Amino acid sequence: MKNKSEFQKDLISWFRKNQRELPWRKDKEPYKIWVSEIMLQQTKVDTVIPYFNRFMRIFPTIESLAKAKEEDVLKAWEGLGYYSRARNLQQGAKQVMQQYKGKIPENSDIEKIRGIGPYTKGAILSIAYGKAEPAVDGNVMRVYSRIFSVWDDIAKTQTRHIFEKLVRETIDQKNTSDFNQGIMELGALICTPTNPKCKECPVKTHCQAFQDNSQGELPIKSKKKPPKPIKIAVVLLFDEKGNIVTRKRSNPGLLENLWEFPNMETETKAILEEEMRKTFGKKVYVKEKLMELTHIFTHIKWEMTVYKGKIEEQVKENESLKLIPFEELTDLPFPVAYQKIYKEVKQNGLQG
Ligand code: SF4
Repeated sequence: MKNKSEFQKDLISWFRKNQRELPWRKDKEPYKIWVSEIMLQQTKVDTVIPYFNRFMRIFPTIESLAKAKEEDVLKAWEGLGYYSRARNLQQGAKQVMQQYKGKIPENSDIEKIRGIGPYTKGAILSIAYGKAEPAVDGNVMRVYSRIFSVWDDIAKTQTRHIFEKLVRETIDQKNTSDFNQGIMELGALICTPTNPKCKECPVKTHCQAFQDNSQGELPIKSKKKPPKPIKIAVVLLFDEKGNIVTRKRSNPGLLENLWEFPNMETETKAILEEEMRKTFGKKVYVKEKLMELTHIFTHIKWEMTVYKGKIEEQVKENESLKLIPFEELTDLPFPVAYQKIYKEVKQNGLQG
């Protein structure tokens, strides 16, 4: 880059005039930056804002998050998906309380906090603490690949290091927060994945791709494999009083400790009924099909067939198994896939 300081100046002055008002930008408190960055992974800004505001009302400090019941944290996260982010965030908060007297470290110790990877580390250190650290995510790689004409595949993990090095070489040491946020904001508003608005771009005179007219070809990103489809049969088991059987997921990893309706991996209703009888007793009946729904995760796709069922057995309730009125289901943390079922059933009066 010919004129680094002009590039910094153009970017930062554009950012200061054009930045969106976002709730976590107001006071640059490290805890707020941390929560917002975790929420923003895989989720769009507009979706995150109401979740962020609610989360801050419920858990206004690291201490309150550390002391909360995991179920309440998952409930506050309900709908955002990727629940391991919420679990790690709380584990991290506990660590900060126990090992760092409630203050997120300003040095490399920050990497030891659960759930804080290189990007979140860079965002907290540069935005909240004014350190010259790169915060490189997919957006930053897109913008930098165009400005510096980098043709490496950004889908490969090691490519991030190329961009971290470039950011380290170009970051404004005195304005790390506005510089890093400026790049992120440029990626969100101007240097968008398709049809970047180069004519309005504050750094076009510094951009190699703009000069070469190659902005439409960059970044290079190889395609991921499509998610693997898995057939799931779900049953809404109602007792005579209209209560419904719900259970806590025990599968380690995917949606662990969230609640669900009884289900199994199968395409066949008879197999589902057999399994339900093994679990709950003989007087369990899987009846009519209510709906088919698809839910996509990063690597897998659930193709769910949902049945209505009846249970005439006495259900022994415990910590992980409840028989509750349909209306009270909203008190439990449910993953989005099961919320979709709940909403469909409610909207169409299928619970009766
Ligand atoms: S000139 Fe175009 S390609 Fe270059 S940074 Fe600006 S918007 Fe992106």
